[in-house]
Amino acid sequence: MSTEGGVRAWVEVRGAALRRNARRIQEAVGPDVALIPVVKADAYGLGADRAVAVLEDLDPGGYAVATVQEGGDLRARGVTRPVFVLAPVPAGAMERAVREGLTLSLSDSEGVEALRAAAFRAGRTASYHLEIDTGMGRAGLDWRRVDRWKREVDPGGDGGVRWAGCFTHFHSADDPDSASMTLQWERFQDALRSLAPLPTGDFRIHACNSPAALRIPGYGADAVRPGIFLYGGRPGQGLPLPEPVVALRARITLIRDRPPGSTVGYGATYRARGWERWATISAGYGDGIPRALSNRGEVLVRGRRAPVVGRISMDMTVVDITHVPGAAVGDVATFIGMDEGSAITLEEVAEWADTINYEVLTGLSARLPRIWIEEGTG
Ligand SMILES: *Cc1c(COP(=O)(O)O)cnc(C)c1O
Repeated sequence: MSTEGGVRAWVEVRGAALRRNARRIQEAVGPDVALIPVVKADAYGLGADRAVAVLEDLDPGGYAVATVQEGGDLRARGVTRPVFVLAPVPAGAMERAVREGLTLSLSDSEGVEALRAAAFRAGRTASYHLEIDTGMGRAGLDWRRVDRWKREVDPGGDGGVRWAGCFTHFHSADDPDSASMTLQWERFQDALRSLAPLPTGDFRIHACNSPAALRIPGYGADAVRPGIFLYGGRPGQGLPLPEPVVALRARITLIRDRPPGSTVGYGATYRARGWERWATISAGYGDGIPRALSNRGEVLVRGRRAPVVGRISMDMTVVDITHVPGAAVGDVATFIGMDEGSAITLEEVAEWADTINYEVLTGLSARLPRIWIEEGTG
């Protein structure tokens, strides 16, 4: 493995694979649908700065984030494309959003009034997309109450706010049974019809996250908002697999042969069955390795699987390498990714931890350097 010997643990990110995954989504929905890569939570933990640099090659229709801070960070890095904030924001954050030229998502007339006030204070026009809640339930105007919106808010656009788009979000696009998607899509279409006439010109209608864009490309509308697929996360059953993008690695810093009955870790939850060889790896839950992998997960050492023994500590994990010939201090252990032809997938780790690939990625802590690898061209 590469990297300097001094780095104890790190995340490897393959930029070319990220770029190819983004192209796959673009190809699935066709060239007329804008790609709006979702780079919230620091590009799912990989590093939004570098992710954006890689994704610029695709000439995206903008970027999506979850918070005003994240949008401001993109602006500070020189991103001039549209930046869309997917989640509702506190009214107190709106003025900054307007100054940064971010497009907010709004769910109600109170939101529009708050944005109007913020635009006035900032002395700039603000733009927003109206979210329609078709069943996700966490944000958006209820699809059954669209008439109310028309009457009370008058989206005709005045006083410094511009209505720039409309979107919804599918709750079960990862499910091979797409019946709920169809239902949500119909609700969305009903809402759009009730809202007609929609503003013309630069107005965007969008609905799809990664699994939705791949499952029913026809729902691509004007733009799609893929996240997990770009970063190598499997989007759901029956869908194309992305190329792996992320590897999580750490060094073996100690190896000891332990006599039968030796215990390891807090709570002494594991006991050596015979003579066993244990390797101490320099990463733990403080690095984002799910503690749920204690006595459960595995890592790759020299291409072989070594089981985690005992509880994972904040900074260290111990694995049994009794059956790994030649393992030595300084070797690199792989928690996620390929090693000598073997692989542990993100999804396997998520399953051990009883969670989803998204949470594993976004849980990788700031302590781990992100090492971006560019192999040739994408
Ligand atoms: C996070 C998010 C996405 C991206 O979803 P993926 O499943 O990661 O592709 C798209 N739209 C909204 C509203 C989101 O919150």
